[in-house]
Amino acid sequence: MKIMKFGGSCLKNEEDLELVAKIIGQEKDEKVVVLSGINRVTDKLVNFLQKSYSEKEVDSLIAQVRHMHMDLLTKSVESKEIYEQAKVKIESRLKVLERLLYGIHYVGELTEKTRDLVLSYGERLSVVILEAVLRSRGIDAESLEADEIGVVTDGNFGSATADLPLVERNLQESVLPLIRRGIIPVITGFFGRDAHGSTTIFGRNGSDYSASVIGYALNADSVEIWKDVDGFMSADPKFVKNAHLLDELSYDEAAELAYFGARILHPRTVEPLKLKGIPLRIKNMYRRELPGTLVHGRKKVLENKVVKSVTYKDIGALKIYGSGVGSMMGVLGEISTHLSDNRINIKSVITSQTCITLLLEKEDVEKSYRVLSSTRIKSVEKLEKVKDISLIAIVGEGILNSPGIAAKVFNAVANRGINVEMFAAGASEVAFYFIVKKRYLGDAVKAIHRIFFQRGRHHGKA
Ligand code: ASP
Ligand code: MG
Repeated sequence: MKIMKFGGSCLKNEEDLELVAKIIGQEKDEKVVVLSGINRVTDKLVNFLQKSYSEKEVDSLIAQVRHMHMDLLTKSVESKEIYEQAKVKIESRLKVLERLLYGIHYVGELTEKTRDLVLSYGERLSVVILEAVLRSRGIDAESLEADEIGVVTDGNFGSATADLPLVERNLQESVLPLIRRGIIPVITGFFGRDAHGSTTIFGRNGSDYSASVIGYALNADSVEIWKDVDGFMSADPKFVKNAHLLDELSYDEAAELAYFGARILHPRTVEPLKLKGIPLRIKNMYRRELPGTLVHGRKKVLENKVVKSVTYKDIGALKIYGSGVGSMMGVLGEISTHLSDNRINIKSVITSQTCITLLLEKEDVEKSYRVLSSTRIKSVEKLEKVKDISLIAIVGEGILNSPGIAAKVFNAVANRGINVEMFAAGASEVAFYFIVKKRYLGDAVKAIHRIFFQRGRHHGKA
């Protein structure tokens, strides 16, 4: 059995839907489809919730969302009967969304729980469209909402984790019988429900993770993630014109690349797959002749080609100064408790005797500063925000045990006159990273890519 996940960028217009239906129709294996919301619907909802709004604005948002979906339905589905059935479902879901938005407006309060519920509507709508498109082409399909079929989460709003054994038990009962009857389940990605029945999302772009969770639960043979890009690359083509496609990665390599910035995959996607050794393939829907990237359990350490990719991410940091903070017991624990109570994730930590540096998502710097400024933490004397920095990570199996790689990287960067602000290695077997000022990012990435991949020198053989 195969899990086929299609992202929002594969669901932009009627031609896309036609292509998605064709790809699904051509797949001989048993299959389950997992879907994102159609292009940018989640963004729209996220933006809408960012500030207070009037009833009128709710009406106009609902009208827009309705138009986006009904337009696709009208253009893609000829059968009157199937069209009408889908329309009824769309309208009833829009009604709930509308009432939720009114509710938030009247109460004047938006809880995390309600926010997750609102954000789940992109997917609740898109599955109805694809179900209708498939049915109208004679393919037996059934749309399913993840919370209804038992995708259970830990209840951590905004970035939940699936309870894998429980999801497995539930989906074996709720989904497997459909597949056995020859029906293709079309399941909402992005969210599940917690033990109390509340909808919880897996974080932005979380439907990749949903696909893996569902693959795990159904013991799939493979998971396919369909996108509008070719797969993982040796570097971002925005900076490096001759970057190449990576045809294979280990689970850990893919996880670190995603964690350190490769926007192609939700960073947690490989976790469930690794547990069962299920391979993942990323494919470009518009260039199906390309093999894409295969992510699997085999670790390939190529002696002279250890480095597979260089990736990056704009981040922020908070420096926490105080004499002896490095050797004082419990300081780090206290800091991280305060931050996690405020739902701030620390991406990485570098410490010394006099300073603890926290690497954070750049959106979290201000808030962390506020949180830590307003609490007394023993021996902390001063906080400093660091903005406009970028993290560059070098990823490849064997990196930790291959002498000379860091030296090559730092040399290349130094030769460009770029200062390395901080670096860390050893936390991962397959990656190390360093920090530069944001304005040097492009240059640094280019320089590193050149030393490891320049044609004729290091490409193919070292
Ligand atoms: N629709 C959600 C988002 O945009 C989930 C996803 O696309 O994977 O974040
Ligand atoms: Mg999306």
